[in-house]
Amino acid sequence: MPGTGMGDVYRDILEHILDGVYFTDLERHITYWNEAAEHVTGYARGEVLGRWCGGGLLSHVDPEGRSLCRTACPLAAAMRDGTALEADVYMHHKAGHRVPVHVRVAPIRGEDGVVTGAVEIFRDSTPLVERDAAIERLQDEAELCPTTKVGNRRYVEARLEASLDAFRHRGRPFGVLFIDIDHFKAVNDTYGHDVGDNVLRTVAATLTGSVRAEDCAGRWGGEEFVVLLRRLDGAQALAPLAERCRALIERSDIPIEHGTITVTASIGGTCVRDDDTAESILKRADALMYRSKQEGRNRVTVD
Ligand code: GH3
Ligand code: MG
Ligand code: MG
Repeated sequence: MPGTGMGDVYRDILEHILDGVYFTDLERHITYWNEAAEHVTGYARGEVLGRWCGGGLLSHVDPEGRSLCRTACPLAAAMRDGTALEADVYMHHKAGHRVPVHVRVAPIRGEDGVVTGAVEIFRDSTPLVERDAAIERLQDEAELCPTTKVGNRRYVEARLEASLDAFRHRGRPFGVLFIDIDHFKAVNDTYGHDVGDNVLRTVAATLTGSVRAEDCAGRWGGEEFVVLLRRLDGAQALAPLAERCRALIERSDIPIEHGTITVTASIGGTCVRDDDTAESILKRADALMYRSKQEGRNRVTVD
């Protein structure tokens, strides 16, 4: 394995572990890419070797959607400081959506002790096994949106009723986000309905990775999604979670014939109140979403 200084035994091990692993040189050009890395990111080895890992390839962003490549790259920090570190970031998948990954990075040293590059070990932090089971369950219950593979309106209504029940009887507060893609009609008109459908799939996949394990995201209809934020630790927890959804949608890429496009979404968020019904809480979240539209779109409004 030229350029990596790796023996056959180590290479064999790396090819068989379930974590994605890649090596870079000092300029962060990729010099090694294991099989699990192909699986997590969608990029085959031949597509990434020799390329810079920023600039439209993996392009890690933080939970606020800020690009880490130029200013806060974990690999660059490991090489600069000569120490290992860990981070939770969102990686760009070849299909365009954002994947939450836990990364561990460490400098690689030559025999003389001088840093010659870095290694990143990363793991998809979406609970994938549970997710497959969840999709199957939704399908059985006729609560799956076949296009986006998230729950449909029926599912959202059922989860919302269950959350209201838990609130009334056990005092468990929750929040609702109403998410509407901006200028979606223009995407359909410009690129066609199939690209429109890809936008819906990408947004759904990014939302699935953006929310916490206890939350749920579903398609309300058209280009509208609803997220239920459960185990909410006070109303102040709502805005950062909504903002994360907004930022990661903005940082997702939708493939078109030559290149990619991006979309944004307007979000309204609200917490459950004592006298709420499913209808009243959704109506409030929708009205707040509408305020985000009026104030320029691609923003979050919470009450
Ligand atoms: P705004 O920023 O104000 O939300 O504008 P918008 O264009 O997103 O909103 P509008 O309500 O005018 O348009 C929504 C469009 O979504 C119109 C409809 O044709 C399209 N749409 C609804 N369901 C689907 C779908 O399943 N697939 C595709 N491709 N388009 C859909
Ligand atoms: Mg709409
Ligand atoms: Mg819209």
